Amino acid sequence: MEHNQYVNDQVNKKNFFIKKKFSQNFLLDENIIKKIIKAADINQDACVIEIGPGFGALTKHLVKNSKKLLLYEIDDELIPHLKKLFSNEKNIHIKHQDFLKTENIDEDIKNYLDDSKEVILVSNLPYHITTPIIMKILEESKQVKRLVLMMQLEVAKRLTSKPNTKDYNALSVIIQDQTDAKYMFKVPKTVFQPRPKVDSAVIRLDIYEHNGNKAFYKFVHACFVQRRKTLVNNLNSSYSIEKEKIKLILEKLNLNDKIRAEALSLEAFKKLYNIFLREDLI
Ligand code: SAM
Repeated sequence: MEHNQYVNDQVNKKNFFIKKKFSQNFLLDENIIKKIIKAADINQDACVIEIGPGFGALTKHLVKNSKKLLLYEIDDELIPHLKKLFSNEKNIHIKHQDFLKTENIDEDIKNYLDDSKEVILVSNLPYHITTPIIMKILEESKQVKRLVLMMQLEVAKRLTSKPNTKDYNALSVIIQDQTDAKYMFKVPKTVFQPRPKVDSAVIRLDIYEHNGNKAFYKFVHACFVQRRKTLVNNLNSSYSIEKEKIKLILEKLNLNDKIRAEALSLEAFKKLYNIFLREDLI
């Protein structure tokens, strides 16, 4: 039976109850699935992790395109479907688990994949936990090299946006400090069962630094704390540094004293942070 028909049957005949708390929106469009696989750029020798395989729409292609596959699925009800679908596949390991509760991602990679190979993570994410999942991987794994993720369009734009755009915020800076973040393509809400309220998009994050500098990220958050306020005002209220002192530092970097955080590039944030640190102000 066609995958789409199978999923529609499960849902419409009430064999399977959609769980909103797990952000279950199942992907039904083969072309979009192929585009995600292409964006992941998986070498036949690479290993893949998938978070939330659901009914296996992406998984079916991932298994054909990789050496070994590790799945994390939280929903009890989906596990028998996955086990049945992949009963003949030796290279898939299914973990019935909340990914956020994984104790040691790299240990799982060692046990179920092959840690001498490139490890890529592909997921049509449970949208309500998009940021915690990305941060967990960046903070806890040294093995995962690339993330190819579907998420809410708005979040995808934020993570990949550049300075002086409306989507640029602290999270854009933090993600782009650790990864080469690329917006790939938009996915309309019509290709899911059930249909989500918002459109989605796929992004690709090639990781070049795992576990970045937390103190720097705290500083970036402080710079953006009130988006419409100037950097001088935000730093003054977050760290109680005298405004005149902040203006002098901005001047050293040839930055206007009315500048807002949204106008600063990642490099400018780093320079600014280093001066504040050197002068013992933060
Ligand atoms: N990959 C499937 C697809 O594209 O059709 C399903 C994607 S659906 C948006 C999200 C999936 O993540 C669901 O299967 C859901 O049960 C699972 N999920 C939700 N929270 C999870 C968690 N904390 N850990 C692992 N899986 C989770």
